[in-house]
Amino acid sequence: LRRLRARLARSNTALGKGLLALLSRGSLDDAAWEEVEDTLLGADLGVQASTELVERLRTRVAVEGTTDEAAVRTMLREELLALVDPSMDRSLADERVGDRPACILVVGVNGTGKTTTVGKLARVLVAEDKDVVLGAADTFRAAAADQLETWGGRVGVPTVRSDRDGADPASVAFDAVKAAAELEADVVLVDTAGRLQNKAGLMDELGKVKRVIEKQSPVDEVLLVLDATTGQNGMRQAEVFSEVVGITGIVLTKLDGTAKGGIVVAVQRALGVPVKLVGLGEGPDDLAPFDPEAFVDAVLD
Ligand code: GDP
Repeated sequence: LRRLRARLARSNTALGKGLLALLSRGSLDDAAWEEVEDTLLGADLGVQASTELVERLRTRVAVEGTTDEAAVRTMLREELLALVDPSMDRSLADERVGDRPACILVVGVNGTGKTTTVGKLARVLVAEDKDVVLGAADTFRAAAADQLETWGGRVGVPTVRSDRDGADPASVAFDAVKAAAELEADVVLVDTAGRLQNKAGLMDELGKVKRVIEKQSPVDEVLLVLDATTGQNGMRQAEVFSEVVGITGIVLTKLDGTAKGGIVVAVQRALGVPVKLVGLGEGPDDLAPFDPEAFVDAVLD
């Protein structure tokens, strides 16, 4: 958690510092509030959340009649935290359900960090003494399955894959879930394809992967991997995936490389599901549960 704080702090201080500098000017006139709103928008918080935050802060500052820096900082912290919504359930479906493994489907556009996330997550689960099986349902490129298998080898868990390019992804996913059941594993993580060049085709494929898995076993969790650096573009992708496969949680990657942490708020609002995990680097240990308090502290540190 300390490391998470440090990483987030490094990338987000610009936002916190900017806001606090604006808010500590003493005279908070219309122009100052507009600058606060612009700063929030610049951090990808989204129009709705930015407007709301400014309105709430502005009202509180007026009602409490103070522009004292510490007081404003406390208000800002409380309002930011409310936006991040600590009440959302951020637990992962990573325990056996009755007599079957938990099934986690991982979706997202290529390049967002999907395969890396599956590898890192497998590592976290193995460290918790869980038996994990990986499914390489991105069958379009053999390299994708190779990459996942490399992670599997590193972490010490089996990877179910097809040896030929263009095999049916749904059938590989089905086989992975079956193998996990036979091995009495705790969790099966299914990695999927994310080529957006043929969006309709991709969405058909993902829908089918999910349906075919469900012939055998419920899908307990659908994690959408989003690259925090892609801003509003990523938001649109998120909505498309959400319509097709029904997302239950978001993994926000590359949060180490952006000052636009506000995307956490924007994407949670748009999809109505929590950010559950964050990616904070390329290394095997750089995946952490998302902690709203630590996140807001990092922004304001
Ligand atoms: P996929 O195509 O979605 O499966 O993406 P990959 O897992 O291959 O990742 C694409 C690139 O993003 C790789 O170079 C990863 O090392 C990098 N990456 C993944 N997650 C993170 C992260 O949290 N932070 C940073 N800085 N890089 C990441």
